[in-house]
Amino acid sequence: MERIYLDHAATTPLSKTALSAMLPYFTELFGNASSQHNFGREAEKAVNASRQTIAECIGAKESEIYFTSCGSESDNWAVKGTALELKEKGRHIITSSVEHPAVYESCKELEKLGFEITYLPVDKEGFVSPEDLENAIREDTILISVMFANNEIGTIEPVKELCDIAHSHGILFHTDAVQATGAVLYNVKELGVDMLSMSAHKFYGPKGVGVFYKRDGLKIGRFLNGGEQERAQRAGTTNTPGIVGTAAALKEAIDNIEKDSAYISSLRDYFVNKVMSGLSDVIYNGPENGNDRLPNNASFSFKGIEGESLLFSLDLAGIAASSGSACSSGSVDPSRTLMAIGLNAGTANGSVRFTFGKNNTKEEADTAADELIKTVNRLRSM
Ligand SMILES: *Cc1c(COP(=O)(O)O)cnc(C)c1O
Repeated sequence: MERIYLDHAATTPLSKTALSAMLPYFTELFGNASSQHNFGREAEKAVNASRQTIAECIGAKESEIYFTSCGSESDNWAVKGTALELKEKGRHIITSSVEHPAVYESCKELEKLGFEITYLPVDKEGFVSPEDLENAIREDTILISVMFANNEIGTIEPVKELCDIAHSHGILFHTDAVQATGAVLYNVKELGVDMLSMSAHKFYGPKGVGVFYKRDGLKIGRFLNGGEQERAQRAGTTNTPGIVGTAAALKEAIDNIEKDSAYISSLRDYFVNKVMSGLSDVIYNGPENGNDRLPNNASFSFKGIEGESLLFSLDLAGIAASSGSACSSGSVDPSRTLMAIGLNAGTANGSVRFTFGKNNTKEEADTAADELIKTVNRLRSM
């Protein structure tokens, strides 16, 4: 059976360029990047070059790039690191109601420690309103964290506008750019953000490597204690192969971003049109305007369908999709994001997300749409 992977928001396959860049650093060039001898210096040189490449890809300085173990760690560092650093200044944080669990649960954890969190609502397309942000700001607000692009419905938030509001009140701004990186071109200096999170495995890099952008001069403390790695900001022996693969994957993604995004969104649009014209009682979740949505994302709610059953049937037919964020599938709670855009629990539970990638073909989009229509009709007739 031909298998079709339409879950690129959960993870992407490793790019061949990234793989070949990584391989020598598992074997001959295995040195610890902190060692003083030649083995160490070889590794350190590769890490520095990777840092430079990543900085160039997002308009940052080399000194502003820190490597972590995943996107989740970068998000935890931003939220908890800021809280720890600024707790005497204030204990109020503003975020959105549609954040990834890495930000959301970090905020929940801080609530237990006495911090107050405002979870901004979103409209039916998933947008945070700048007015709502303005109104939520207090004397004791120390951080605003709003994601760049949503992993479930693809909404691209007005990050620059939100960041400008934060700064007009002297408040730090973080964005979770895990889904946006490699899909949307941005420059951290133009955005103005103080902190930004990325994850390599979402842009055809290896799993287990995160990047944390922290602008120079920003004083938020080290998050992982131990050795002096990452300029004494993040302990732990450097993941040289992972870092080398991350830089290679990001450079490849950025070099091809226009071509790839146009191709991926054309597959997505073809698929969406086919599904919407082939089925009744379907809601296409997320922004109407394609420019405000990630190129890869198609999220639907099918009336009278259990999303989990649909996923199961699709999987049997060789099609991999998701009922929302991978972290929440398996649990019965309806998606927080889908509830936040105003769906009721039943409709939210009848939702499935398809996310396309650069290796998908038009034939796959065609087959997947046919199979989806067939399966929804079958489940509805049962
Ligand atoms: C995948 C994802 C993360 C977590 O990244 P990991 O590297 O898997 O920990 C965080 N935020 C968003 C928006 C994501 O899609």
